[in-house]
Amino acid sequence: MVDLQGQYQQIKETVDNSIQEVLNSSSYINGPLVKEFQEDLEKYLNVKHVIPCANGTDALQIAMMALGLEQGDEIITADFTFAATVEVIALLKLTPVLVDVDAKTFNIDIEALKKAITPKTKAIVPVHLFGQVANMDAILEIAKEHNLFVIEDNAQAIGADYTFKNGTKQKAGTIGNVGTTSFFPSKNLGCYGDGGAIFTNDDALAHTIRGIVNHGMYERYYHDVVGVNSRLDSIQAGVLKAKLPFLNAYCDARRNAARFYNNAFANNPNIITPTAKSNNTKNCSAICDTCDCHVFHQYTLQITNGKRDELHKHLLANGIPNAIYYPVALHSQKAYADAKYKEEDFPVTNNLIKTVISLPMHTELDKEQLDFITQTIIRFLK
Ligand SMILES: *Cc1c(COP(=O)(O)O)cnc(C)c1O
Repeated sequence: MVDLQGQYQQIKETVDNSIQEVLNSSSYINGPLVKEFQEDLEKYLNVKHVIPCANGTDALQIAMMALGLEQGDEIITADFTFAATVEVIALLKLTPVLVDVDAKTFNIDIEALKKAITPKTKAIVPVHLFGQVANMDAILEIAKEHNLFVIEDNAQAIGADYTFKNGTKQKAGTIGNVGTTSFFPSKNLGCYGDGGAIFTNDDALAHTIRGIVNHGMYERYYHDVVGVNSRLDSIQAGVLKAKLPFLNAYCDARRNAARFYNNAFANNPNIITPTAKSNNTKNCSAICDTCDCHVFHQYTLQITNGKRDELHKHLLANGIPNAIYYPVALHSQKAYADAKYKEEDFPVTNNLIKTVISLPMHTELDKEQLDFITQTIIRFLK
């Protein structure tokens, strides 16, 4: 699905030098490279505060801890996403409220979101799934009307630009009250271990978060709040500092591969290719060069003739990696099932879990590989 070795070989010297710098300094925790990477990322994202932490799941948990949410508060998020999002809501004894997603973008459905709001709702967690930013114009409007926090789970869309209705652009993850990301190796900006970060433009919130990641300390050995231990280690920060300058090129490489796939599958009656929507009013039919709203963490097809599972096996048999993200809706998972959920409220997710298949997507895909993958699929679905 990804070619981390191929990518490493391209940037080996830069990454190796960065890691060597940490080894030479022996500053393994909170070394200078952590601060340097933090500042580089703040500049790249044009956000006031980046707070590095240990992984993307911690980032979500810490963001929610920092907002002063209380037991029983309802947090709305998408039914079709990785479980980390709902897991931390449940861990903090908040009440997850899962809602259906949009059939085209796979992101939280705005009408379903509106319907789910109650007097107990305190926050919305849009997940920019597969690398595409959710409809933030609508989400911010709803949040403002109901006085809700917006926590962007940006683990899959770092580097994506969101274009607002009025034409202004902002980086994914910096739009809500707080945003989170993961630097898991296979993410669009991945390190060589675990890593994560929290983004905010709110000075007071950033201060609160910096204490929470460090055992609730704002002054050494004075614990003002209950915190956690969540750090990005210096070696991982070194890897990320070396890789960040390549992130835009990585996004372009992913979009190029997506464009190749889209062209190859165009007009195939059994395949729905992913939609890149620059915002809720403009619907791009193709992935245009000016459209940077989608960074294709995953390239995900819908197979409409019922042969998704057969295709999955056929590709594996032909040496083509592929994956089903996600095979089970969160509202159907043992850990998160709840009598309040009605199947008829999740028509899109319930369909997607049966039709989606994600193809190899990374920065090193070449024409020969893309030809082989697309031809194998087209021949099989004939
Ligand atoms: C990867 C991912 C996470 C969790 O990140 P980790 O670093 O693995 O903890 C959270 N949310 C989404 C949507 C993800 O894809």
